[in-house]
Amino acid sequence: MDCHICSQKTKYFTDETTSIVYYYCLGCEYIFKSLENYSSIEKQKARYDLHDNDEGSESYKAYYQRFLDFVLPLVGSPESALDFGCGKSTLLVNMLNNMNIKSTYYDPLYHPNTTYDSKKYELIVSTEVFEHLHRPDEVFVRLLSRLEQHGYLAIQTQFHPNNSDIFKRWYYHQDPTHIVFFQIPDI
Ligand SMILES: [Zn+2]
Repeated sequence: MDCHICSQKTKYFTDETTSIVYYYCLGCEYIFKSLENYSSIEKQKARYDLHDNDEGSESYKAYYQRFLDFVLPLVGSPESALDFGCGKSTLLVNMLNNMNIKSTYYDPLYHPNTTYDSKKYELIVSTEVFEHLHRPDEVFVRLLSRLEQHGYLAIQTQFHPNNSDIFKRWYYHQDPTHIVFFQIPDI
């Protein structure tokens, strides 16, 4: 199996507790679950429907505020933004709009009819989305094409620990909808 991202060779390891096979790219250190763990859209939605993203929740707001406090100082003063993969909630977009950043949202399951293909944005945010994607490389390229010149794509996901023993104990891959995991490659 070659890496989706960089086409280099992978090696695999098995999590003995779940028997799930993981492929580890020897080039870019990307890890992905074996393909039978990739769920259909319907199955994924059934699981996401269980997530309780309460718009009024202070902890949920605080979670997004931490994200914005990290991202916004790095990206200057964007006038437009897209929240890609927002899930059910438009809370992050509401927060951006309240900061006078004209923002919209898209989610393939919950808000598939909002279109982003004909527009460009100074900032695209995508929080806790990329670990769910079957082909994150393709989505990454598509989102880059929707950025204004000098725009920013801000992705939040957790980097894997880059050690298979520690990885097996890591909570993040135990969510069945989390199927791909990234690492910053040595350059
Ligand atoms: Zn790779």
